[in-house]
Amino acid sequence: MALKDFILKYAPIVGQNIGISLYNTFLYKQRHKGHYKAYGDYYRRFENASEQEIAHEAQNRLDEFLQSTTQNSPWYRKHRGKPLHEFPILEKAQLLAHMDTIRTIEEKEGIVSLTGGTTGASMKVIYAHKDMQERFALKDHFRARYGYRLGKKVAWFSGKSLVRPQDLENGNVFRDDYINKIRFFSTFHISQQNFDAYWRAFCSFKPEYIVGFPSSVYDLCTMAQERNLKYDGKVTAFFPTAETVLPQYRSVISEVFGCQVVDQYAASEGAPFILECPHGSLHIHPLTGVFEVVDENMQPADEGEILVTSFTTHGTPLVRYRIGDRIKLAPESFRCACGSSFPVVEYIDGRTSDFIWSPENGKVNLGNISNCTKDVDGIICFQVMQKEAHAVHIAVVANARFTRDQQQNFIDAMTLRLGTSVTVQLDLVDEIPREPSGKFRLVKNMLTSDLMQSASMQRS
Ligand SMILES: [Zn+2]
Repeated sequence: MALKDFILKYAPIVGQNIGISLYNTFLYKQRHKGHYKAYGDYYRRFENASEQEIAHEAQNRLDEFLQSTTQNSPWYRKHRGKPLHEFPILEKAQLLAHMDTIRTIEEKEGIVSLTGGTTGASMKVIYAHKDMQERFALKDHFRARYGYRLGKKVAWFSGKSLVRPQDLENGNVFRDDYINKIRFFSTFHISQQNFDAYWRAFCSFKPEYIVGFPSSVYDLCTMAQERNLKYDGKVTAFFPTAETVLPQYRSVISEVFGCQVVDQYAASEGAPFILECPHGSLHIHPLTGVFEVVDENMQPADEGEILVTSFTTHGTPLVRYRIGDRIKLAPESFRCACGSSFPVVEYIDGRTSDFIWSPENGKVNLGNISNCTKDVDGIICFQVMQKEAHAVHIAVVANARFTRDQQQNFIDAMTLRLGTSVTVQLDLVDEIPREPSGKFRLVKNMLTSDLMQSASMQRS
């Protein structure tokens, strides 16, 4: 057992807090070493650069990245000198299977990052130190636009398991980093019976910022609203991570905590960044990498899956990597009021497997599914599960306002989107479990692509 795990399991809470404080401080020191400061200056400088300067620099970064990749990665060696669009598309399964020929450094030379894949297979990516310093420099630069810096009080809701069963009985649902003023909340135990402990801990801490899973913060907020509780502090900004930010998350969280919700996209495999500006637009950051948007035939499109080439992945190069997310680009003529010339994305759709398959309507995406609650009273959260083409099971956590009429409204809204050939079964439950990663999944699609194909063939 690693020392860290040993401390988490056996030490008293104060001891754990001290351990967490020291460990975090060590991590921050590591991230802020080396090139961190220079990259902070770099991103500040290019914030106000002209369109030409940015395009020129983006090309330089791409050239450098492809050259270094083809020089150092055995997997990419044979593509030396090719322009980006002639590189092969990198599938997730290939990255998993050929990690050892793709990567350019050994584990001990870099920083290992583990990501939970959609299939449950976890992926191990090795970052070069310099790239990690760049990523943190950009993230901090981005958050600094909203006044954030290290040392401001932050409430953190992430997928780390921090809390032991005996802690729950005592209402200890968080751990503190005393040095960097961060309160880490467990996202696994936000429930009706633990709500009071969470709310007390949040209110007494009075964070200036929140970072973490939007579904967790949203759950906390809806429970507070049900109890007619008013938060008597003010959070400056919430920086969501890891999950798609659904419209209802945005409105409820900003209403309860009075904060701006500032979205970002940067998957843990090392994708380039999409960052929300103070005017609410999602801007692609062209100095972090290339986003190619493609249709089902892998041809360029304005809306569809993305292939990412990320300039901060020298350790495990990602070139035209099919990461499994979708975006829609804003029309080229669109100019954001913030003045930035960085391209704007209309929306980011989480993983491509996050959809329900309708034999009549094809893929019904996450945004459309979540919209089904728009005119329905009483739903706290729900999860749609699909195991066969013609039926879905929906687990719903709801309060007393979710009457028979409201249930019917919800089913009607669902049927409108899924078509009449899909039966909708509603199950009222007390709780919907999260994934092992701590993330909440609105949609769980267990249909294989074979099944979908035969379903659509039957139809035609
Ligand atoms: Zn903008």
